[in-house]
Amino acid sequence: MFPNHATTVNENIKKHNENVDKNIPSAELIDFLYDNDLPEGVDVSLASLSARDSVWDTHRLHTSYVSKIYALNSEFERYSERMDECSGFLKFGYNEDDGLVLKQAGFCRVRHCTTCQWRKTLLWKALMYQTYDRIIQTHPTHRFIFLTLTLKNPPIDDLRETLQHMNKSWQRLIKRKEFMAAVKGWVRTTEVTRPKDPKDKDKKYKRVCPITGNTHAHPHFHVILMVDPSYFGRNYIKRQRWQELWADCLRIDYMPQVDIRTVKPKKGADDDGMRGAIAETLKYATKPDDITHDAENPRSRDWFYELTRQTYRLRFVATGGLLKDALKQDDDITNEDMIDTGNDDETTETDDRRLNFTFYESKGGYMYNPNHNE
Ligand SMILES: [Zn+2]
Repeated sequence: MFPNHATTVNENIKKHNENVDKNIPSAELIDFLYDNDLPEGVDVSLASLSARDSVWDTHRLHTSYVSKIYALNSEFERYSERMDECSGFLKFGYNEDDGLVLKQAGFCRVRHCTTCQWRKTLLWKALMYQTYDRIIQTHPTHRFIFLTLTLKNPPIDDLRETLQHMNKSWQRLIKRKEFMAAVKGWVRTTEVTRPKDPKDKDKKYKRVCPITGNTHAHPHFHVILMVDPSYFGRNYIKRQRWQELWADCLRIDYMPQVDIRTVKPKKGADDDGMRGAIAETLKYATKPDDITHDAENPRSRDWFYELTRQTYRLRFVATGGLLKDALKQDDDITNEDMIDTGNDDETTETDDRRLNFTFYESKGGYMYNPNHNE
């Protein structure tokens, strides 16, 4: 019923890696394409012109795949229709330093659309990097630590209630004296995955649990905490203490899994490890692989449908303290933000020409389609 998505995508990636000139397209090539008609039957893919943009094919093919899953359930047909319209064309401007620069696209904004999630995470990362770069200037002695909070996996039918309970528990946590003493700002994201196989030690194979994979969910918070220097002295909170505090705020009688990590600045390195840690935190609400996992199986699809119902309109991003304005809420993100995410250090100034690329699922990605050039 479904295309062998992984193979298509992998073939795409392989194809591009083998064939594509890593350089950006030359001005001559762009002039030639823009000024001439494409011969009948000739396809010029976006990926063949601009290697870094081959990632568009990967994400957009995944959107099609998720759309097909939604299309099988009349309750979610509307999502499927919206996703089929998502980023159907991309219009790029050109400059010689950076090559193709995206100028126009329309996004569907369905929560579990892979393409939209990707654009939003790019935006969030860009905003967070900017905030980080600013804050280390104004608060040079503050540090960032990374906290992951979980609890026992609830049945997928109880996910909404569990997430609301976790939110309330978080509100209790941030009012605790120990928390307030050292933490000066925070950014929190919610991730929901399928439960992982407990026999898969250290999650080496990232296997989904064969028993609870379709019946339960694994909701967790990823949190970036900005702490003042006292955290590494008198206000230090050990991992075990974080566990006790979280258990207490959750009002549960077992010890939940908690992970706390400090990113140590790397001497002499341009990137102090923060960017990687930020990227880890600001990722998809649900991994694309978890959405499409075992999609031929109706029980597996039901898990995803229930996830969609249970998370309807819930907010998955929250901020506070000195990081209050670090991110934008879903509702505040504009289509324009998703076009120019600000994630590359590139010049976004381009010429006025607009080169159009249209998505063709049957061709495995975006193809140059000058009929809609501007
Ligand atoms: Zn979309």
